[in-house]
Amino acid sequence: MEHELRAIGNGQAEWIKQTVHVDYDNRSQRPLGFSNNGRYNKVIKLLGTFKGDLSHNDLTYLVKTVDGNTYHLYLHLSDSDPLHTPSPIRWTLDFRVLKRGEAIVLTLWKSSTHMRLEGVADFHGDLCPELVLGCKACHMALKLLPELNTSRDLIVIAENNSSPALDAIQFVLGCTMGNRRLKIIDNNRHIYLFASGIGGYGVKLSLKEICFNDEDRFNEFERKVVEGSATLDDAVCYQRLLDDRVARLMDLDNDEVFAVENVRKCFMCNNFLTESLVHENYDFPMCTLCQSNLPENNSDVTYQ
Ligand SMILES: [Zn+2]
Ligand SMILES: [Zn+2]
Repeated sequence: MEHELRAIGNGQAEWIKQTVHVDYDNRSQRPLGFSNNGRYNKVIKLLGTFKGDLSHNDLTYLVKTVDGNTYHLYLHLSDSDPLHTPSPIRWTLDFRVLKRGEAIVLTLWKSSTHMRLEGVADFHGDLCPELVLGCKACHMALKLLPELNTSRDLIVIAENNSSPALDAIQFVLGCTMGNRRLKIIDNNRHIYLFASGIGGYGVKLSLKEICFNDEDRFNEFERKVVEGSATLDDAVCYQRLLDDRVARLMDLDNDEVFAVENVRKCFMCNNFLTESLVHENYDFPMCTLCQSNLPENNSDVTYQ
C-alpha cells in the first residue's frame, strides 16, 4: 500500500465524490465491488481500512479493482438513531489514485541499488526504516569480516524478535532461524552480532541514538496506525515520515548508525563477549564466569 499512500501524499488523485452502491461482505468486512457510471468495478484487493473523519463511526477503504485502478471508498454511518433500523449508511466513491505514483517509488529505489534494497523490500513487503537498518548492519558486518561473505560459518545473534531488520539479515546473508545461523535473544534493542561460528570471533553492532527531529509526530501517527484509529490522511503522513527516515538512514554512513565492538567466543561456555572482557588462558579466550570456575591451580589443566 506504500506506493498508493505516497501517490496520495503527492496529490496524485482524481476527485470523484459520487454516491455509489457498494456490495459489501459482512463476514470479511470488505467491499466486493461497486457501480459507477453504469460500470461495475470488482474489487480484487483491500489495501487498507481507515477511520473516516465526517463522523465517529465512519470507515474508509482503499481498494484495488480488477482494471488495475485504486479507489478510496468512504462509508458514512449516520450517528446511531434508535428509530432507524438498520441505521442508514451511505457510500461515497471519494477519489481514484492516479497511476503516475509508481514513478516516485522507482526514483527512491533506484538511488539505493547498491544496497539491493529492491529485492529485500520485495521479500519483506515494504521499504521501511528498520529494513534499511538491517541492510546497513549486514553491509557493515561484511565490510568488517569480508572473509565470511558467502561462508556458511557466518552466524548472527539478534537482540530483538520482531524487527524488519531480521528480514534483511535473512535475505542478504542467508542466515535464518531454520538453518540455525540466526539466533534471537529478545532484549528489544537493535544489537546485532555477526560472527564466525568456528573461528569464534566477530563484531557486535549496536544502534546509535539517531535524532530525526520528528519523534513526537512519528510516534503519534505510529500509535494510530498500530491501534487501527488512523484516518487515510494519518496514514499518508505516516508514510511520508517513514520515507523521510528511509532516505535519511540511507544517507548516513554505516558508522554514524552503528557502534562497533569486536567479540570473541568463550572457549568454555561458547558465549560471545566483547573483547575487553575476555580473559586469556594460554591463548584460550574465556569469560569471567568460566575463568572463576576453573580449579585454582589451573596451570595444570590441559585442554584436549
Ligand atoms: Zn516494513
Ligand atoms: Zn564462558
